[in-house]
Amino acid sequence: MPRIVFLGPPGAGKGTQAVGAARELGVPHLSTGDLLRAAVQDGSALGREAEAHMRAGHLVPDDLVVRMVAERIGRADCDGGYLLDGFPRTLAQAEILEGIAPTDRVVSFEIPEALLKDRLTGRRQCPKCRTVYNVSTKPPKVSGICDLDGEALAQRSDDRAEAVRTRLEVYRTETEPLLALYKRRGILVPLDAVGSPEEVTGRIRRLLAEMPTHRRR
Ligand code: AMP
Repeated sequence: MPRIVFLGPPGAGKGTQAVGAARELGVPHLSTGDLLRAAVQDGSALGREAEAHMRAGHLVPDDLVVRMVAERIGRADCDGGYLLDGFPRTLAQAEILEGIAPTDRVVSFEIPEALLKDRLTGRRQCPKCRTVYNVSTKPPKVSGICDLDGEALAQRSDDRAEAVRTRLEVYRTETEPLLALYKRRGILVPLDAVGSPEEVTGRIRRLLAEMPTHRRR
C-alpha cells in the first residue's frame, strides 16, 4: 500500500486535494498543520509550544513535529500506507521519515509564487464544517458566512499578510531543497497545480492511477 507525500508551497492546494486523494487510495490523510492546530486548540503541551511559531509563520521545531508524526504513523491505521500533507518540510525531517518508513512517491505541487499570496490571504474557513472559501475566487453567497451551516467564517491567524510572507520565505529556504533530494531518489512526481480544484483533482487521479501500490525493498 502506498506511502505518499504531498509537497508544495503554502496555498498550493495540498490540503484540499489530499482529502479526496486519501479517500480514493483508502489511506489516512495526515496533515501536520491540522494535527498541530488541533493540539493548539486542545491546549496540550505540544500545542502550547507550537502556537507562537505557527502564528508567526515559522516552522515548529523538528523534534516536536517528528515525534508527533512518528507516533501517528505508528498507529495501526497507517499499516496499509498513508498520505502525508505538510510533512516533511526540512531536510532533517525528510531523513528521519526515511528511517521510519521509505516513501513511495512525492507529489510536487508546482505553482508560481505570484498566485499564492492572494490564495492565502483571501482564504476563509468555516470553523464548524471546515469548508474552505476564498474572498475573491470562491466567495460564500453571503460575505463572511458559510453557505452550508450559516456559521461565521474565520481566517487562520497565519493567513494574515505578514505571516504569509514569512511562510513563503520559509518554504523557499527550508522546504524547496527537498525537491532535489526526492528527484535524485527517483520518486518525485511533478504536478501542475495551476487551475481549478476540479482540474487539479483530475490530474492527481491520473497520477495516482499510474503509481505502484506495493513496494519491495
Ligand atoms: P499548514 O497547515 O501545512 O500550512 O501548516 C501550518 C503551520 O504549522 C506551518 O506554518 C508551521 O508553523 C506548522 N507546521 C506544519 N507542518 C510542519 C512541519 N512539517 N514542520 C514544522 N512546522 C510545521
